[in-house]
Amino acid sequence: MVGTVSKSETKSLVEFAEEMKLDFFLVSFTDLLGGTRAKLVPAAKVAAVESDGAFFAPFACHLGLGPDANDIAAIPDPNSLIVLPWQPNVAWVASDVYLDGKPFGAAPRVILKQVLQRGEELGYRYKAGVEAEFMLLKKEGTSFQVADALDISTRPCYDQLNLMRQFDFISTVVKNLEQLGWGPYQCDHEDANGQFEINWTYSDALTTCDRHVFFKYMVKTLAEQHGLTATFMPKPFSNLTGNGAHVHMSLWDGNSNVFANASDEMGLSSLAYEFLGGVLAHARGLAALCNPTINSYRRLGATTTTSGSTWSPRYVSYGGNNRTHMIRIPEGGRFECRLVDGSANLYLALAGLLAAGLDGITNHLQPGKRIDENMFVRGSEFPDLPTLPTSLLEALHALTQDELLLTTLGEGAKTYMDFKHQEWNDYSAVVTDWELQQYVTC
Ligand code: GLU
Ligand code: MG
Repeated sequence: MVGTVSKSETKSLVEFAEEMKLDFFLVSFTDLLGGTRAKLVPAAKVAAVESDGAFFAPFACHLGLGPDANDIAAIPDPNSLIVLPWQPNVAWVASDVYLDGKPFGAAPRVILKQVLQRGEELGYRYKAGVEAEFMLLKKEGTSFQVADALDISTRPCYDQLNLMRQFDFISTVVKNLEQLGWGPYQCDHEDANGQFEINWTYSDALTTCDRHVFFKYMVKTLAEQHGLTATFMPKPFSNLTGNGAHVHMSLWDGNSNVFANASDEMGLSSLAYEFLGGVLAHARGLAALCNPTINSYRRLGATTTTSGSTWSPRYVSYGGNNRTHMIRIPEGGRFECRLVDGSANLYLALAGLLAAGLDGITNHLQPGKRIDENMFVRGSEFPDLPTLPTSLLEALHALTQDELLLTTLGEGAKTYMDFKHQEWNDYSAVVTDWELQQYVTC
């Protein structure tokens, strides 16, 4: 299979270049705000980049270093290699950022690897899958509209006609994923007009994060080739359901899923419940990582949409196979965190979720009783339940109070806070049209 790499067969980039007839490598890393930065390196020169890295001026990226700082080096991880299905002489490769010869502690992939390492020391391997919802739009002047003018019903979820009108685009993505060996298994039209989801098989958390970065890049690129704009923005339209990036997770010891327990009514082990206890205990701080933008809180904070449901959580709660909670347990052996949205930098979100879960295990935190209610209707009947933040500022405040998550972000914590407070301040400085209409008569 083109572009598929398993750890046992990992070769050097030079060997990959020869074997796969590659002319270029797209040496890429993700910065703290989720930006993907890359250099295109000719295959003939990749040996030096593989050992010493591709160099970047860090101030130009969102990593918190000044214009006076030494160059950072992006050292490619050949395990992550993905050949571009639409440009097969080019391979994308995720990199770890180094500064002054050492892994840079504020780089998201480095942060995730550190938490994964801690999990492995405790004997657990973290596996995850992500449901990356997106919308297909067309640009009209300066605004964006749903690309398909016929996709207008108020409850469009699973609509066959809407789905099949985008068959050319969707099937191209799926064929590419098959070629890459990701095991795509279902695609559907989601609950918002113009919204789709394409599911592929879960893996170890690092691979899923790398693939998430690549998936977004691929979907946006192919959409452009179709004359469209693909967006993963949490809430592009105030009246429509937003774009989630639900994460399914489990811990493994070798080939054994240690979240699974067939004798539990939900199919979860006591270890899984403790992990879940940790995720719930840190949920409000986690929002700053899982919902990192101003726009994230239009999705989380929404009370309804034209379809009748937002499908996004408002409370720090869990249930069974119930989509009105922050955590859903769809079947034994895993649970779904529905908090995460399309703007999340998945390296940071999963680093936070894993750190919270491990904290739950270490301190034997319990998630409390499962709630079997429609939280969209009856949530207010549970006054003791914490609510999720309703703004980025509230989430940042919760993060500043969460020692564990701050420690997890390590060197990146202060920089992340600074960038995000700046984003909040920029946003707060803008007088919106809504305000003008509302208050002009004051
Ligand atoms: N789009 C919804 C969200 O923003 C999720 C819908 C679903 O359950 O797939 O989380
Ligand atoms: Mg979905």
